[in-house]
Amino acid sequence: MRRAGKVVAEMHEATRAAAKPGVTTRQIDAVAREVLERRGATSNFLGYHGFPAVICTSPNDMIVHGIPGDYRLKEGDILSIDCGAIVEGYHGDAAFTMPIGEVSPLARRLIEVTERSLWAGIAELRKGNRLHEVGRAVQKVVEQAAFSVVREYVGHAIGTAMHEQPQVPNYWPGSPGPTLKSGMVFAVEPMVNAGGPETRLLDDGWSVVTADGSLSAHFEHTIAVTDQGPEVLTLP
Ligand code: MG
Ligand code: MG
Repeated sequence: MRRAGKVVAEMHEATRAAAKPGVTTRQIDAVAREVLERRGATSNFLGYHGFPAVICTSPNDMIVHGIPGDYRLKEGDILSIDCGAIVEGYHGDAAFTMPIGEVSPLARRLIEVTERSLWAGIAELRKGNRLHEVGRAVQKVVEQAAFSVVREYVGHAIGTAMHEQPQVPNYWPGSPGPTLKSGMVFAVEPMVNAGGPETRLLDDGWSVVTADGSLSAHFEHTIAVTDQGPEVLTLP
């Protein structure tokens, strides 16, 4: 899983460098495919319930699961890129949101708060702690900034499949959840809206947008619980 995580980190670096005004999201997908090929890794996104690409690209009010295509990035957009890889049967999964050129102060703050909420959640992935402390920590950071946490889509355990049980909500679900043990691995992935938390699925059956049209950001890492604390596997 460390090796899969390194491939995902390399996909992040390559796609981040490629995402500029004038570039289409399909071109960014092609850059991610090159990384997978170069590293001899396979895609856990391509073909997942028929998904046609190796990354998800979700601009502006799109929360997650955007399909790379003809959308051409422009100055002032924000773009969420979600990447995954399989190495020898083990999965990595991580996402980030970036500004395209100069963006509004609100967009910058949304990106900063969402990334900070991810790290607050990661800090809770300690042996003996309860899993839902992750969501409680994420929610606190987000709501203190007067943003909202998406409820319909959540993080997940990950291993020989991308989406394993249990789920990892980004909010306090009303119960503490399972006790964490060394060797457990989770994808923590806050999805944060500048407006309300409600979502809407577009007609393509994949793209999830904010119901109120507000901006949305998404950060994700794959993290192992170890005796020494959380180990983030999807960092470079
Ligand atoms: Mg992901
Ligand atoms: Mg995920």
